Amino acid sequence: MSEEKLKLTIAHLYPKLLNIYGDFGNVLTLKYRCEKRGIDVDIINIDIGDKINPEQNDIYFIGGGQDKQQIEVSKELQKQKDSLMQAANNGKVFLAICGGYQLLGKYYQPNNGEKLLGIGILDAYTIAGNKRFIGNVTAKSDFLKPKTLVGFENHAGLTYLQENTDPIAKVLVGNGNNSKDGFEGARKNNVFGTYLHGSVLPKNPHFADYLIKTALSVKYQKDIELLPLDDTIEINTHNDLINKKY
Ligand code: GLN
Repeated sequence: MSEEKLKLTIAHLYPKLLNIYGDFGNVLTLKYRCEKRGIDVDIINIDIGDKINPEQNDIYFIGGGQDKQQIEVSKELQKQKDSLMQAANNGKVFLAICGGYQLLGKYYQPNNGEKLLGIGILDAYTIAGNKRFIGNVTAKSDFLKPKTLVGFENHAGLTYLQENTDPIAKVLVGNGNNSKDGFEGARKNNVFGTYLHGSVLPKNPHFADYLIKTALSVKYQKDIELLPLDDTIEINTHNDLINKKY
C-alpha cells in the first residue's frame, strides 16, 4: 500500500490582533519544516466571530499582543472555550506566545483595567507587574534535544503556574514567567505556552520539530520519524544567542 500523504492543519488564532514581534514566523516555520519533508500543510486563520471546529485542526497557534488587543481576544475566547478545551483534551498541539499564552491560562490582570478572562487550558494565572521585562532569554528544557531554548521577551505580565501545569524550561538568562521562580513557559498535555518571541521556532528548530512530531503522532496514532533538515543557519543562530542578554 502506498505511503499515506501526511497532512497537518494549523489554526492561527486571531492573527490580526495577536501577532507582535514576528510571532507569525512560528506558523511559517511549522509550514516550512513540514513541506520540506513532503508533509502538506493547511493554514486556517481564525478571526473574531469565526467558529472553531475542534477536530479540524492539528496545531493551534496564538501570538502575543498589547493589553488592548488582549481585551477583544479574551471576550472572543470565552465563546470558543468549549471547542478549544475539547481540542486540548484530545491532545491537539497548541503553541501560545506571551499575550496568547496568558489567555490560555485562567486570567490576566493588566496594570490598568478589568481582569481579562482566559480559557483555563493551562492551570496558570498572570498579574501585570510594574516593570517590563525586555531582552533575550536563554532557558534549559528537559524534553528537547539540545536542551536549550533561546528567544526574546517583552512583557509586564507575571505568570504563576498551578496544579497540573509544568514549566517548559529553567531560565538561565532573562526573566521568564515571573523572574522569581526561575521558570519559563508552561505545558499541560500538548499545550505549550512561552514568553519567547522572536519568533521562537526559527531559532529553535528542535522545538518546531517536537511540535510537528507530536501533532503527527496524535493525528495518525503512530510515531512518525521526521527526515533531518540542513539546519546549519538555524543552529548557528541558536548557538549565537545562547547566554546573550542583549
Ligand atoms: N500585554 C501582555 C504583557 O505586557 C503581553 C505582551 C506580549 O504579548 N508581548 O505582559
